[in-house]
Amino acid sequence: HAKKNRLDQQIYTQQIDGNTLERLQLINELKSAIDNGELVLFYQPKLDLKLKKVTHVEALVRWQHPDRGMIPPDLFIPIAEQMGQMNALTHWVINESLEQYLKWKSQDIELCIAINISAENLKDEGFCQYVLDLVTHKGVPIDVLTLEITEDAVVSDPENAIKQLTVLKKSGLKLSIDDYGTGYSSLAQLKQLPVDELKIDKSFVQNLMVNQDDRIIVNSTLQLAHNLGLSVVAEGIEDEGALNWLIERGCELGQGFYLSRPLDADKITDWLVSSPY
Ligand code: C2E
Ligand code: CA
Ligand code: CA
Ligand code: CA
Repeated sequence: HAKKNRLDQQIYTQQIDGNTLERLQLINELKSAIDNGELVLFYQPKLDLKLKKVTHVEALVRWQHPDRGMIPPDLFIPIAEQMGQMNALTHWVINESLEQYLKWKSQDIELCIAINISAENLKDEGFCQYVLDLVTHKGVPIDVLTLEITEDAVVSDPENAIKQLTVLKKSGLKLSIDDYGTGYSSLAQLKQLPVDELKIDKSFVQNLMVNQDDRIIVNSTLQLAHNLGLSVVAEGIEDEGALNWLIERGCELGQGFYLSRPLDADKITDWLVSSPY
């Protein structure tokens, strides 16, 4: 089943990439997708590896297209970035996540939620005030939210990015460096950002049990991050071996298909209730 999904996604990617006309159509349709309620959030659990308990979820957007079916974010996020739609999209994602937080809370499920932020968001001067106002308005504790940012979201305008991130961090929001290890910055440079957490990219974690280089990289990243006072999330955990290896080395949080794929709110709620975590 998992394999089939991936295959569908690959086929879909090829179709759209190979067809400019279709891409142009998608660009047009994306503008109304938010207003038409076609975006949905899926949630993937992050397991606290010490408590063996799911304490966080990452919100991952999908586009439920009326004709084309489910479109994965890798296909439309880059378009949204190019078309100046990213602020509207992220505003929707944060709103929806906070609503889901409140829904879970009313069911006695307490979860922190991580949201992905793009370069476009940090370029918007009003972004951090928008986030803070919204959280206050909904009456949600600020430390419920983690913002996941990739280093390329910062490099284009580091001064402004650091300014906005510092305001958010001072207000109590958690900040996480996403896809760590895939960019060009060193951890020493990234440490200048007011971050709490490092997410080791899945490319280093997926083959942990068979690739010694990956184990060396992840091991030294864990040590360096811990020495710098950062907690670490490993994404892309696909087998029990990787999970146990990370637990033994004091990695704080784990995420991956071995635990659960991203699921819609109803399915993840069922999973949370029935899983051993
Ligand atoms: P990301 O932030 O690095 O999210 C992790 C991606 O890895 C997700 O793909 C998730 O389904 C996948 N993943 C999780 N565990 C495993 C695993 O064990 N094995 C493998 N092979 N993959 C795993 P997804 O949901 O397709 O999202 C792709 C990317 O799209 C995200 O990468 C993120 O960069 C972007 N994205 C998704 N939602 C949003 C959003 O709301 N805003 C922004 N700005 N970007 C988003
Ligand atoms: Ca992420
Ligand atoms: Ca990532
Ligand atoms: Ca990524």
